[in-house]
Amino acid sequence: KVSGIEPDYLVDCWEYYKKKVPLLKYSTLDYEWIEAITICHNCQNTYSTIDYGRECPYCHSGNTVLLQGNECLIKEIEGE
Ligand SMILES: [Zn+2]
Repeated sequence: KVSGIEPDYLVDCWEYYKKKVPLLKYSTLDYEWIEAITICHNCQNTYSTIDYGRECPYCHSGNTVLLQGNECLIKEIEGE
């Protein structure tokens, strides 16, 4: 959710290439959101990055690191 990827733009690009590349003509694109989770190195709690940003909501420390949510992973490709 904090990767910077805009799903609507990604889908638009996919649709564009489906028309240009015959191999992709009948393909589908499915995506899943990866929740953004941050850990606080001060109190060791984890929390939603979207809701609280870089400051820990438990102890208000700024000594935090994003654990997940900025990645883009290709989970599966199927073909015939
Ligand atoms: Zn904390």
